[in-house]
Amino acid sequence: MKTFEHFDAASVEEALSLLKKYGGKARVMAGGTDLLGVLKDEILEDYPEVLVNIKSIPELDRIKEDSQGLRIGALTKLDHVASSPAIKAGYRALSEAAGSVASPEIRSMGTIGGNLCQDVRCWYYRYPHHMGGRLLCYRKGSGPCLAVKGDHRYHAIMGGKRCFAVCPSDTATALLALQAEIQVVGARGTRTLPVDDFFTPLGNSLSKGDLVTEIRVPRPAQANRQTFLKFTVRKPIDFAIASVASVITVEDGVCVDARIVLGAVAPVPLRAKGAERMVQGKPLDAKIAEEAAKASVSGARALSGNAYKVEITKTLVKRALLL
Ligand SMILES: Cc1cc2nc3c(=O)[nH]c(=O)nc-3n(C[C@H](O)[C@H](O)[C@H](O)COP(=O)(O)OP(=O)(O)OC[C@H]3O[C@@H](n4cnc5c(N)ncnc54)[C@H](O)[C@@H]3O)c2cc1C
Ligand code: SF4
Repeated sequence: MKTFEHFDAASVEEALSLLKKYGGKARVMAGGTDLLGVLKDEILEDYPEVLVNIKSIPELDRIKEDSQGLRIGALTKLDHVASSPAIKAGYRALSEAAGSVASPEIRSMGTIGGNLCQDVRCWYYRYPHHMGGRLLCYRKGSGPCLAVKGDHRYHAIMGGKRCFAVCPSDTATALLALQAEIQVVGARGTRTLPVDDFFTPLGNSLSKGDLVTEIRVPRPAQANRQTFLKFTVRKPIDFAIASVASVITVEDGVCVDARIVLGAVAPVPLRAKGAERMVQGKPLDAKIAEEAAKASVSGARALSGNAYKVEITKTLVKRALLL
């Protein structure tokens, strides 16, 4: 790994001032579980000279709940999100999503802010520089997408245009289903973005020098059912081939509200609006679940080698609805 200067920021203000001082030469580091791999393999030409460690900011590592909902500091470790009694009780989809990430070791280092901001896992994009030179592609600013004509078995089946890498974050899928908002602090002041405005086809809407400081999750309706289901190739530790998060409210046996979100099938976490409409006002039986599952993938445009993801997604949606 190349050398870089390392600063421990003691506060959000200090982190912002360091990011401003070093401009494009500085990068934020939280748990480092993604960033250090990116730097070690020199995946990107743009190598930082300075790392601003934000783990040293105590006020960003906390979970608070009040009558409005949850406020999770961006530095809260994924294992704390997964095991928090408040999150397990009221925000189960998030607890299950955080608990499904990687391994216990990575969950004890990786933070929820870092999980939302992590880089994509496309193997062409991640190709290490020391193995004959990094591969360039559309996302890296030069040339076409290598996955379209290459091996794209794990790539997008929906919403891909020029880059088919999927959003790798499991917590993003659950947070979109839970209507969460992400608080960002930076040179432009403080802004709060709904999850679907935070993610963009080529990453996220952060500018250089921005920090994610908090995730806010409104309290869901009392009678809701939630889950997060994820299909992986390797069970003990793996990114999703497809996932689904659902938050469903059923009254008198009828679905009165549904948020169904698909993960790992598109460049951003994606609401399955067709499926949501399909279940609205209906009892959640096997027939409706089957129709909703079909509707959830009606927009799918699989590449030649990843149509199997369509079937897996349908099955996950059906299972989530029948829980
Ligand atoms: C083997 C392995 C398996 C994995 N499996 C999964 C999986 O199944 N599901 C899944 O969702 N993820 C998975 N991951 C990814 C993992 O969840 C992330 O590495 C982790 O969540 C990143 O958190 P971090 O705190 O370590 O972030 P870092 O590595 O410190 O940072 C990651 C990126 O986010 C930026 N960043 C971090 N925090 C902030 C902030 N507060 N504001 C602005 N920018 C910030 C950094 O600059 C960097 O670009 C896996 C990772 C590994 C190595
Ligand atoms: S999917 Fe995206 S990151 Fe991967 S090769 Fe194509 S453009 Fe590059």
